[in-house]
Amino acid sequence: MYDYLIVGAGLFGSVCAYELNKRGKKCLVIDKRNHIGGNIYTENIEGINVHKYGAHIFHTHDRDIWNYINQFSEFNNYINQPVARYKNEIYNLPFNMNTFTKLWDDVFTPSQALKRIEEEKSIYHIENPSNLEEQAINLVGKTIYEKLIKGYTQKQWGKPCKELPAFIIKRLPVRFTFDNNYFNDRYQGIPIGGYTKIIQKMLNGIEVKLNCDFFKYKEKLLKECKKIIYTGPIDQYYDYIYGNLEYRSVRFESEILDIPNYQGNAVVNYTDYEVPYTRIIEHKHFEFDSTSPKTIISKEYSSKWKLGDEPYYPLNDERNNSLYQKYKELALKEKNVIFGGRLGQYKYYDMDDVISSALSILKEID
Ligand code: FAD
Ligand code: UDP
Repeated sequence: MYDYLIVGAGLFGSVCAYELNKRGKKCLVIDKRNHIGGNIYTENIEGINVHKYGAHIFHTHDRDIWNYINQFSEFNNYINQPVARYKNEIYNLPFNMNTFTKLWDDVFTPSQALKRIEEEKSIYHIENPSNLEEQAINLVGKTIYEKLIKGYTQKQWGKPCKELPAFIIKRLPVRFTFDNNYFNDRYQGIPIGGYTKIIQKMLNGIEVKLNCDFFKYKEKLLKECKKIIYTGPIDQYYDYIYGNLEYRSVRFESEILDIPNYQGNAVVNYTDYEVPYTRIIEHKHFEFDSTSPKTIISKEYSSKWKLGDEPYYPLNDERNNSLYQKYKELALKEKNVIFGGRLGQYKYYDMDDVISSALSILKEID
């Protein structure tokens, strides 16, 4: 008999397993995939740690979370500084003085950049922006919107910016300094040796069953376990009785190339609509010590999701948020099941949010 069945060997499930095991609880961790780690899984190919489910950069403002993850791995000092390619032009991201001075020949100082953006904004300014296009133009003006936002966003979300909610763009920093750091967080890096090693350490000494789908073995598993921590999709747990939650999916096309350096940066965003992928990741540039004569790149194609596809980004619009609330009400009535992680709580969680949410749920259990 197990104290806990943990469905999902991703970051949320693994933090729970590690903490419960430390408290002397007997846990069984299952995952329907053939590997641990969920979406942060990295696989070493040709001496390069490949981020199989998309680029993962650990960043947090919270010192406790940073110390927590550092127990399991040393981190390098990688700082995310993506580059945007618009047709045959290259710009720095996020929007900062490097971007502005390259966009406009007569802009050299922060006040000139500010003035230029203000001029562009004032032509189209809308008092209460009701969609992403209006919000973006209010934020950075028409030129940046047209070159760096419009095409990328439409590819990413499969809809024109006019039909998207304004909040999506609020995450992107706009800076009047020469600072290409994509994140404002104090702590940032990539674990040396990859993310899978972190999960291996968390699950050390705990029983793990891979290729094991909860719904296939539910009857048997429920007899063997007192409580469940479930990190799969919440609507699936309830057999989609109210209908299914929607996601945006991503398809990765990876290639091993016989050259040491393809694009000179870990992340290059392709911001014009005509290029079908949103970005190219070159995995070796997340690390600084790769001596491989080869390189591995992944093209990311954002795609429409249908039931059965891999769910990536929750579509937190009105329909889906209210549907989630209905499932959440059912979940709150459960005595022996805890729903966690990005699928269990239908929330776009970064890794630091996942750790913090798992640790606070464990506190409640205590
Ligand atoms: P998951 O990793 O999805 O784990 C859930 C696990 O449950 C999966 O392994 C799944 O196979 C398993 N499972 C589901 N159903 C069943 C079932 N029926 N039976 C058995 N097992 C089941 N965060 C950052 O902090 N920085 C980044 O740079 C970053 N980049 C990202 C890029 C992309 C493209 C995406 C999609 C996400 C990114 N994230 C990033 C977010 C990060 O991936 C998540 O915060 C984290 O992986 C969530 O962990 P989780 O355990 O909740 O979910
Ligand atoms: N975005 C953009 N151009 C870029 C990068 C991002 O227009 O080059 C927009 C896009 O709408 C995206 C949002 O900013 O959905 C948030 O970007 P972020 O990189 O934070 O998204 P992630 O893919 O990491 O969730």
